[in-house]
Amino acid sequence: TSAIPTLGEYLKRIGECDSGEGGTNAFVSIDSTQGLVSPTTASKSLAGKSIAIKDVICTSALPTTCSSEILRDFQPPYDATVVRLLNDEDATVIGKTNCDEFGMGSMNIHTSHGSVINPFQTSSSKVPWRKREQRSAGGSSGGSAAAVAASMCYAALSTDTGGSTRLPASYSGIVGLKPSYGLISRWGVVSFADSLDCVGIMADRVSRIRSVFDVLAQFDTLDPTSIPIIHRERMSFSIRSRMKDLGDNGQKSLQGLVVGIPWEYFPAEMSQYIYSPFNTVLSVLRQLGASIKPVSLPSTRYGLSAYYVIASAEAYSNLARYDGIRYGARSSPEEGSPILDAADVYALTRSHALGAEVKRRILLGSYALTAGAFDNYFLQAQRVRNLVRADFDRVFRISNVLAGSSASTEARGAVDIILHPSAIRTAPSLMPKSASAAEGLQVYVQDVLTVPASLAGIPALTVPMGYAEDDGWPLGVSVVGQWGSEELVVNVGEAIE
Ligand code: GLN
Repeated sequence: TSAIPTLGEYLKRIGECDSGEGGTNAFVSIDSTQGLVSPTTASKSLAGKSIAIKDVICTSALPTTCSSEILRDFQPPYDATVVRLLNDEDATVIGKTNCDEFGMGSMNIHTSHGSVINPFQTSSSKVPWRKREQRSAGGSSGGSAAAVAASMCYAALSTDTGGSTRLPASYSGIVGLKPSYGLISRWGVVSFADSLDCVGIMADRVSRIRSVFDVLAQFDTLDPTSIPIIHRERMSFSIRSRMKDLGDNGQKSLQGLVVGIPWEYFPAEMSQYIYSPFNTVLSVLRQLGASIKPVSLPSTRYGLSAYYVIASAEAYSNLARYDGIRYGARSSPEEGSPILDAADVYALTRSHALGAEVKRRILLGSYALTAGAFDNYFLQAQRVRNLVRADFDRVFRISNVLAGSSASTEARGAVDIILHPSAIRTAPSLMPKSASAAEGLQVYVQDVLTVPASLAGIPALTVPMGYAEDDGWPLGVSVVGQWGSEELVVNVGEAIE
């Protein structure tokens, strides 16, 4: 293996391809003091490795803007737990990355820093890179994906609420992991929809994902939703004994592994060019000894609507803290205007400093929680969420250690992992901001394959599966497992990458 580039080499690369006309625009701030840090102990697992951090994760050395005007000058006085864990292993935080405002979006276009441009270069193209068709790097963690895809860092931290790690990774031709909910601490990670939010990891190889995940997956007393050690140990025991049955002899044999392919993950919106690379992945898995089994996850088709109701309702509640009083920007009334009360200051600040997409979510969320709509929207969405979870628990062989005793007596399914295309198409073109309503809806449809794992809180890893025949852009395939089965998911991902 070739040597990992040094911080200086990554910084040079960022200088070359990130800024200016047609640059990727992945980084929103760079830590130039890092080069001054004294040499590190090579024994630490991430010593000398440069990691980029999505700008919704708090860092004391760099601002944390969430790509929002309302936090333009916000510099947290502390590091998020994940940042502390990286620092403890001597990793270098190289800089903060662009994203959709507070993580709301699928294309990284709703950002106060300007859109991220997908750095993928089709090898056949003779047009210089900066002059080519500008496509989205995906969202909301587009900056982290572009930073990895353009070799501007060793790995990147992202977040994933409904697909924000997997979609950009798929569009950018890299690997992205949305871990099980509650395995990685959210302390210091700015909340969007806290029952769904996960810290994600992006890199160009599965092995790098594994090395960062091993550092970050720690119980944290500061995060009340961090899963206690007892459940982690119980799950790791079940998954290890299953892997032993499978003859855990390195990653290259998958003898006995049962792979479920869900019928519902091939909707009408899916592009035809997905099928051929997906079938190639299936034959690789068969060659390695796995068997393929069709499964049904019937509640999938309600998942997207339920997700947008739940995520918006939680966002509405989480974003109430940005009132112009306690945090960030405050808009002052114009000279000579009548005296304002507090509610006017809130309204003025929010009208000025929140973007259109964030406002849409706040309105949708507040509506879903009003007395008249609550039963029909919020409660229904929670019911769908339970059905989606139950679908997964029914097909997986290993039971969900978080589901309580009632689930363990139920008959279990037969599959070890589920496999499906990560997205319904390649990276979309960067369209002008004033998209029509129909185009707007299309953006939401991009999440249709990623939200079920988010609603269920289970791990999903996307790995590149080649390129679309039509346009030559990258495509990803997702490996999804039972809660806490990252070890298996990552091994399968490594076998097919
Ligand atoms: N695209 C989805 C949304 O806009 C998911 C975003 C995310 O995972 N942060 O809500």
